[in-house]
Amino acid sequence: MPRNLLEVKSLRVLYKVHRGDVKAVDNVDLNVEEGEILGVVGESGSGKSTLALAILRLLPKTARIADGHIYYKGKIDLARSPENELKEVRWKEISLIPQAALNALNPTLKIVNHFLETAKAHGVHDRKWVVERASKLLSLLRLEPDRVLKSYPHELSGGMKQRVLIALAMLLEPTMLILDEPTTALDVLTQRFILDLLKDLHAKTNITMMFITHDIAVIADIADRMAVMYAGKIMEVGDVYTVFKEPKHPYSIALMKSIPSLTGSVEEMRSIPGTLPDLVNPPPGCRFWPRCPHAMDVCKKEEPPVVELKPGHLVSCWLHARR
Ligand code: ATP
Ligand code: SF4
Repeated sequence: MPRNLLEVKSLRVLYKVHRGDVKAVDNVDLNVEEGEILGVVGESGSGKSTLALAILRLLPKTARIADGHIYYKGKIDLARSPENELKEVRWKEISLIPQAALNALNPTLKIVNHFLETAKAHGVHDRKWVVERASKLLSLLRLEPDRVLKSYPHELSGGMKQRVLIALAMLLEPTMLILDEPTTALDVLTQRFILDLLKDLHAKTNITMMFITHDIAVIADIADRMAVMYAGKIMEVGDVYTVFKEPKHPYSIALMKSIPSLTGSVEEMRSIPGTLPDLVNPPPGCRFWPRCPHAMDVCKKEEPPVVELKPGHLVSCWLHARR
């Protein structure tokens, strides 16, 4: 049995806005198994980035974890642990490459200094070790260490910068990497190349990955298991083969139908009329009911339970619940 590295339990994350609270992540349960690549897919605004930021408590000031737990290695609850404990987990245990991180590299610093500064910020001052480790990682990501370390960010292409960010995230030998839309800003060929590199990296290091994307084709390509997120909730979880072959949630089914030959993205869901609900005042019951072709009375009133259809294949839908 694979061991759970991370267990998210009943997690609720709210953003305070003038109209009330945005229920961005609402009662989410999700496990990440040791050594796997878990894909999290959903259209823009479904709460994927909020979930990623909550795991390392890097949320903006207007957000709060209102409820729930995030257990790391079965013992530390990241949702509640003190800041000094979290500092030991960030980068050293779990690294996050946030969305749009390509623009976050400091233009005035050479790449080698990004590695040295990151290490220093986490108490590692051994310059020789940092440069050797950075060079090894850059080589693994098929970059020329000598040239890249001496470069400024503007001297690198988008794909090269993304690889530098992956190397930076892996500098302190974390157990888990969270990648939020790591290929979205790249052209299709570079995207393909980065995905292949990540698969190669995973095969060589067995690092656990949570891979967040709106692009379901990417999930099919890279992930072992997948979670489908919609309006702050997890709708379906299972191994990629099962969910692609036999999606059971109407939202997942619509997702699969909307991407002939798996080359489209969730943003192109022409087959699902309507838009994401307002997360300040989400609809009662199932959040998908205003767009669901199978909505029943119960869906509009009561939240559907999570049903395990077969081991590891979970779906949150009244169609599959025994009543
Ligand atoms: P995207 O890929 O576009 O970032 P996402 O699936 O990652 O989408 P989130 O960015 O987590 O979704 O957003 C979830 C919800 O929280 C959305 O309704 C969004 O508008 C809202 N939200 C995100 N950040 C903030 C914020 N700082 N203040 C208020 N609401 C926010
Ligand atoms: Fe559709 Fe009801 Fe299932 Fe929601 S619970 S997806 S509305 S059938």
